[in-house]
Amino acid sequence: MVATVGIALAATVHGCGDDGGSAGTSSSGGTGSNAGSEASGNSPSIPSATSANSGATSTGGSAGTNGATTQADTTGGASSLGRVTVQEVTTWRNGAVAAYSIIHDDACGYGLDSLFDVADPALRERGLHAGFGVIVSNCEERELWNPVNAMAEYGHEIINHSWSHAAGIPDDPAVWPTEIEMSTTVLAKNLRGQAVDFFIFPYDAFNDAVVAELEALDYLGVRAGTRGVNDAEFVDDMRIMFDAYGPDGASIYPDDTMAAYLDAAEASGGWALRELHGIDGDLWGAIPAADYLAHLDDVAARIGRGTIWMDTPTQVVRYRHARAACGLPTVSGSALTYEAQGECLTFATTVTLRVLVESDPGGVVAEQDGVVMPSRKVGGGEFYVDMAVDGGALVLAER
Ligand SMILES: [Zn+2]
Repeated sequence: MVATVGIALAATVHGCGDDGGSAGTSSSGGTGSNAGSEASGNSPSIPSATSANSGATSTGGSAGTNGATTQADTTGGASSLGRVTVQEVTTWRNGAVAAYSIIHDDACGYGLDSLFDVADPALRERGLHAGFGVIVSNCEERELWNPVNAMAEYGHEIINHSWSHAAGIPDDPAVWPTEIEMSTTVLAKNLRGQAVDFFIFPYDAFNDAVVAELEALDYLGVRAGTRGVNDAEFVDDMRIMFDAYGPDGASIYPDDTMAAYLDAAEASGGWALRELHGIDGDLWGAIPAADYLAHLDDVAARIGRGTIWMDTPTQVVRYRHARAACGLPTVSGSALTYEAQGECLTFATTVTLRVLVESDPGGVVAEQDGVVMPSRKVGGGEFYVDMAVDGGALVLAER
């Protein structure tokens, strides 16, 4: 189901030298040892030639309509919009140039309450959603499931960051039943209304075997790539590339780290996945609050300009697959319909469609299942319209 390409990649050790496990002591000393040192830097070299994606495109989706985009069937006569044509699913939602996600590592960890107290409210103020990687045993010990669930209910993604944030997990299969499997089941049991779909490794240390273990557990995405921006057509959900904020070369963008990564995403049209830890304080990789807030303002400004779409990691993975697998909706008059199945259904999400409307109204109202979906005019007769691929018909009307 999850299209993956077997890319041999040696264990990579770097960053995330935090210490979530030790109660209170925050022996952040031990922590820097791994910081920024990459044992091996072979690139995952996204093999665009593989059939992993192209295969996906031809399966699932609206049977029979893939490719043959649309055709206006005006027999209903209900449309005053003239011929309605769906041109494409835009590369990223809202027709943005690039996608962006933030993961805050070590949520529930001792000394990391800034994630609840500073990061969460700052993101909400700006209408942004991020990922929070929880150390599951710490959420248990500290009885933090209510604040964790409050974040999930808002729309942040709760991500598995192992049971105890132990070092050496990849090379010690004896701890996998605890660090990987138990963390997955306990997190799933305690999360309300959200699945456990994404995994991040302590210290970003991983190898092929442990990544295969996560894939067998049906994770939709794993942060286990090299540093940099994911290609818009990335093919391996188990090897998502990222960049870490922290000392000693944690980032490959040493100058103006936070903005430079966004710039790189916009330049390539891909997906940037930023790794952050706490806000302020002296734990590994903490970002000063002023810098963090300025960064969120920068993100919000870029969203306003239409260059960045920010969402949680699994939402981006879903979008990338839905774009490839769902094809285009059928059009009848001013109604658009998807018949999601196969991979399109597995990765069901809300996609943005580029729609041409012959009558060129000043605006359209797009309603799906009783909900007005986001839409905006982007040119003469041209609109971006959001549509859930697993929902009912979306009906367009002149605003
Ligand atoms: Zn960590």
